[in-house]
Amino acid sequence: MCYVKCVWPSGAVSKEKDMVRRAPRDWWGLLLAACICSWSMMACDEGKHTRLYGEAAASCQSVDSAAGGSCGDVPADGAAGEGAIRELMPAYYDFLRSLKASGYSFMDFATYWNADKQTLPEKLLVVRHDVHARDVSGAYCMRQIERALLPEASATYFVLLGFPPELKRAAKQARYLDLINWLSGQGVDVQPHISPNDMYVATYHTTWAKDSLSKLEKVTSDNYTIEQHDDGVDIDAIPDDALDIRLMNGRLVDLLQKYNQDWTKLTGLTVNYYAAHGSHIAVNLVMNNATLLDQRELLATGIYEFDAYNTQIHQYIGDLTDSEEPAWMDHPETIEPGRYEFLAHPYLWQADATAERLAREAEADAASAAADETAARSARSSWPDVVSGYRAERFVLHDLAAAIKRDRRDHGGKGRARVYGASDGVLSRWLRTKVVKSARRANYLIVWGAEYRNAGKPILTKPARRKLRRLLKVAREITSLQSDGAVVARVYARR
Ligand SMILES: [Zn+2]
Repeated sequence: MCYVKCVWPSGAVSKEKDMVRRAPRDWWGLLLAACICSWSMMACDEGKHTRLYGEAAASCQSVDSAAGGSCGDVPADGAAGEGAIRELMPAYYDFLRSLKASGYSFMDFATYWNADKQTLPEKLLVVRHDVHARDVSGAYCMRQIERALLPEASATYFVLLGFPPELKRAAKQARYLDLINWLSGQGVDVQPHISPNDMYVATYHTTWAKDSLSKLEKVTSDNYTIEQHDDGVDIDAIPDDALDIRLMNGRLVDLLQKYNQDWTKLTGLTVNYYAAHGSHIAVNLVMNNATLLDQRELLATGIYEFDAYNTQIHQYIGDLTDSEEPAWMDHPETIEPGRYEFLAHPYLWQADATAERLAREAEADAASAAADETAARSARSSWPDVVSGYRAERFVLHDLAAAIKRDRRDHGGKGRARVYGASDGVLSRWLRTKVVKSARRANYLIVWGAEYRNAGKPILTKPARRKLRRLLKVAREITSLQSDGAVVARVYARR
């Protein structure tokens, strides 16, 4: 087994005088719980337990294959060939190949942070992967592709290890750990993806923690001024500091410090910086994790160098993020040349996600082509939307036929419907079989607006319109056909 079900340590709950309850759950209890896989893998790095490591690694890969990828199936050294590597995640492979070919350089955050910003390449991607549980299997694929195509130190993986809402999910935590070990074993930069707001709420039961978003919005909307500086932000609390931001910051310092220590204990890695997670809890929507971590007050503690959304990071690079699945994911040639923080969530690049995205794109293309066609037809016609004789128009006119059928049924009409008022070209098939040449013989009259024409001629000529006027005095309108708010035709039943 890659991981065993870890029994979560129940932990004691202690109440403090200030009514603040410390986190009862020490997620790093995982360390003590029986997560054999991670430890066996670490042991392997030291040249021990090779057989156990082999088994663990093989089944880790199959776990991640089952989770939606097949990234474990290709030998890590790329021996199966480039085609097989591409197959792991074709969209990502093609994306990197395309940007490489157009001259882009790639950096992880460590390289970027230490680089002389005055001599940065013109075309640069600082590659960031946020790895949530759904991203784990894809992360294996991405790394294999990066290893095949990019130099070392080209991407940083930010892993959501120890995310409070997932702490009870021992298997999840173990999968994160497996990935972290696998990546760091290859010298890849791995850093935490964290949510200070979730850490805070899980640890301190503040009065606002359970408030709805609308209530939180109400109490915070006018209170906080976020002052932007070159090296971060200051949050000014005035005058009713509902979140008690100064107290919050003080506590966050402790929480982050503890987090870093535990991360190191568990992974053997040092925390240098974070990427803020876009948590869905209410407080994160009024006071975002990225803003909290960009505060000069917190940065000054030196607990972390920066958050990946940080003001300083963005002084020299723009944003290229895949969160909304933009079209450039599959058309990298459309990216404006420049320097970017490139955020790629592994699961969005997996083959099934790509297929869905391309299907949506094809649908949108077809819809826009149809709209263009309609506009072109409309330009050729005096009809606002349709032109006589076209399929689409007969479809619209089907509504008139349906109204006539309904009217005959509701009013016990006997014999055949006899319809006057249109040339063959503008009628649906059913209506066409009911056309009579004389208005007096008809029991239904279609009266077209004067401006509507068929093949360049008015559908209803002036004399015909005059003749109809008398008949219409004793007729009843049953429906009308409208386009762009204007009445195109009215249908009358004769009494
Ligand atoms: Zn996230």
